[in-house]
Amino acid sequence: MPTVVAAVMGGDVWNEQATGGHFRYMGTTTLTDIPPTYLGCVVSHPSFESIIVAFDAESDHLSYAEPKCGGYATRIKVYSKRIGGRLWRLSTGAPKEGYTDFASLIAHEFGHVQKILHPRCGENCTMAGSIASGTIRLRDLAYYDNKCSWEVSGYRAITPYFRFQDHGSFGQEQQIALGTSVSKGGAGIHYVSGGYDINAAFFTFNGGTWVPYLAGASEKPLGLFTVTSRGPTPALWREDVTMDRVFYTHYYPLGVIYSESESLGVSYVRSSDSFQTKTPGDLYRCDSMSSWMTCASSSRMTSAERISVGWDDFNNRSVTVWTNLNRANDATNGDVRVSTGYISHTTIPESDSLGVKSSVSPGVACKAYQAYGENDCIVAYVEQTDNQGLVRVKTFWNRPFQSSPPYRYKLENLLGGVVLDPNMRTASGIAAWYQNGRFYIAVRTTWFGQNLAVYSSADGYTSWSLDSSFGANTYSATAPSAASCFAGV
Ligand SMILES: [Zn+2]
Repeated sequence: MPTVVAAVMGGDVWNEQATGGHFRYMGTTTLTDIPPTYLGCVVSHPSFESIIVAFDAESDHLSYAEPKCGGYATRIKVYSKRIGGRLWRLSTGAPKEGYTDFASLIAHEFGHVQKILHPRCGENCTMAGSIASGTIRLRDLAYYDNKCSWEVSGYRAITPYFRFQDHGSFGQEQQIALGTSVSKGGAGIHYVSGGYDINAAFFTFNGGTWVPYLAGASEKPLGLFTVTSRGPTPALWREDVTMDRVFYTHYYPLGVIYSESESLGVSYVRSSDSFQTKTPGDLYRCDSMSSWMTCASSSRMTSAERISVGWDDFNNRSVTVWTNLNRANDATNGDVRVSTGYISHTTIPESDSLGVKSSVSPGVACKAYQAYGENDCIVAYVEQTDNQGLVRVKTFWNRPFQSSPPYRYKLENLLGGVVLDPNMRTASGIAAWYQNGRFYIAVRTTWFGQNLAVYSSADGYTSWSLDSSFGANTYSATAPSAASCFAGV
């Protein structure tokens, strides 16, 4: 099971972090080979495009992606021994000294499936020709990987769909009518004429688009870079309902390009007129506060994953949650950070660590006193070192320190994490929301076909139950997102 989850992680990293490439786990097979020619495959009707096969044999490569079906399919060979008989050592889950991370290895081979080649000039990335051992940081795609996925594999042109939920039950699947296909998208909240509605933002080939309502609304161009990678997260910081925002991780890296210190900064586009006009900018995280909601020094917010925004209706403050990206250091890479409120359009307050590192985009949802332990908020994540890919939840509330350090909201009564369901795993971002008395979580599973599943719990912590498994007909190529305007919060 850990190997299967790691293989799904290797595929989902492209779905989540690139705008090209698309991988879906369709099950296991007893086959060890695929016909070499297209004709051979037409005769034998293979229903898959890649298989991963372990070879108990010696090779000077740990792994090799071999074109099959005349180039339409790939067999990925993973060898057990080096030439001379020494074992290749593979790990899943936590980084292990001297061991190669299996998820990173499969992500690399799936890059070859997209016909991406090794970089020639020492670029530090997942597609580098020799894979570093003792780290799991190569699970996250670097600039070279994203750039090549765009140039070689192209643009993942898919159609967005949604379902409304009302008092716990889900409506029919509906298509979002856009003038163009998208590579990924996200849902958020939009305020208009005294009420809230659900909006969405998408990455498209012409720089992204925003729609104020899910059904039948006209698109507004976002003017993002053509190849944006993670996100997008449309969000209303409800302290200021006049301003719509779309957050995304910037395609072009911070730091020295192609080096290990390369990073991805979170940026935004914001608008007070439904994106008729708009202002782009970069998002900073405060590193130290000088007085209440006043920042003394800040740095760029970095993440390899989509960021999440919730609403703390006890404090009436937005809550921003993200996984920190640090490609040079396993110790802080993936650290889940929580920041409550906002200081300016460009800066959020100093954050707290949730005390966990997540391999996926976390989900956040709040409702005053309704989370376990009389807490207000839940955050769902997948522990980076968990080779089972289990979804876990922590709960907390935010306490304001107005006249004493740390001069901001601080997490209190942090409880967890608890496992949502020992039978449910994910390698994609988590959507969380609160509606009509229950907390909800939606994920793209690692079950055969990777269909979406929705769970709910009265306190967001105990007794999670599977509300709905939408089946293969509601398959999503990317992580689901969710937004709730229940009771105006
Ligand atoms: Zn390779």
